Amino acid sequence: MSIAFIDLAAQQARIKDKIDARIQQVLSHGKYIMGPEVKELETKLADFCGAKYCISCANGTDALMLAVMALGAGRGDAVFCPSFTFAATAEAVYVMGAQPVFVDIDLATYNMDPASLERAIAHARAQGLTPKGIIPVDLFGLPADYDAIQAIAKREGLWVLGDSAQGFGGVYKGKTTGAIADITTTSFFPAKPLGCYGDGGAIFTDNEEMAKLMDSLRVHGKGSHKYDNERIGTNSRLDTLQAAILLEKLAIYADEIAARQIVAQRYTNALSNSFVTPHVPEGYGSVWAQYTLRVQEGQDREAIQAKAKEQGVPTVVYYPRPLHQQTAYQDALCDPEGLSQSEAAAKSVFSLPFHPYLDEATSNQVIAALKAAL
Ligand SMILES: *Cc1c(COP(=O)(O)O)cnc(C)c1O
Repeated sequence: MSIAFIDLAAQQARIKDKIDARIQQVLSHGKYIMGPEVKELETKLADFCGAKYCISCANGTDALMLAVMALGAGRGDAVFCPSFTFAATAEAVYVMGAQPVFVDIDLATYNMDPASLERAIAHARAQGLTPKGIIPVDLFGLPADYDAIQAIAKREGLWVLGDSAQGFGGVYKGKTTGAIADITTTSFFPAKPLGCYGDGGAIFTDNEEMAKLMDSLRVHGKGSHKYDNERIGTNSRLDTLQAAILLEKLAIYADEIAARQIVAQRYTNALSNSFVTPHVPEGYGSVWAQYTLRVQEGQDREAIQAKAKEQGVPTVVYYPRPLHQQTAYQDALCDPEGLSQSEAAAKSVFSLPFHPYLDEATSNQVIAALKAAL
């Protein structure tokens, strides 16, 4: 029998009665848009990470777009983001008319390399663009190096928007993602560490003015009078039903994050001699959106994946192509020294089946299949 890459059924079995009751409650009160569960969830999400304000929205891509709208970037502006990420990170920049400038990663963490960021900023300026902001990504659930990035942002007068679609609840030097950058966004896509049963997203900030602005932008730029829209916005609300489901998932999220550490440690203990296993720097805590390792020099990734698959162990490559090598983004500016670490990661990474309910026997099956594949 094949192992599930992400098993959402195990979690559902644990809280099904509570989720059913929450759904019934929404069906009874009938407030499907902006019902009471939405506000309740926003308050609890903000409490969870220690941010002052949380604004829920329709998905993680909209969350990024609303944040870029609020922070400000447009024609002639440059926004710096990693190339080794999901397309939505850079897409939000293009949608606002600004230009993404791609930054390399540190291969040890798969996150933005501050030295590459500095080169990219100087390069964008030399090309006549106005640097506006930085979007570090908490890839695979591990927070980016915010201290180093924020120091550069402060010196250069740039804003920092954390794309924590994969990293909500991750820890960085005593802080939780959501309460680190000027604005942080996350996604509740079902397979993310905190996922709903459809699309959903949220934005976090400590800045009251930004919070009010994004609250307006997600409902067509509403003002205090319902039919006097003060600005151009969009429609990006989180459904009440999704908020209701998320409330029950959030209630067990801290417990699940703890369980994720155990699963990750089990893999690392067993596989660190055979592959390049993930590195979590001192003072960091990952939520393990993916457990991603790399093949070593001379190992054939595709052959290993094929052999694991024969043993019923699915593996996935996140991401086989960095953004600067994708059709829609190939003309974007990059760190002038190139993005060699992003390219190396794309050629060597693969992710293992992972979720907080992965038991020891199943983990051992994954480990055995990988060792046999070598
Ligand atoms: C999933 C993801 C997004 C987009 O979230 P959606 O809810 O699918 O729109 C953005 N950035 C990163 C890094 C992601 O992994």
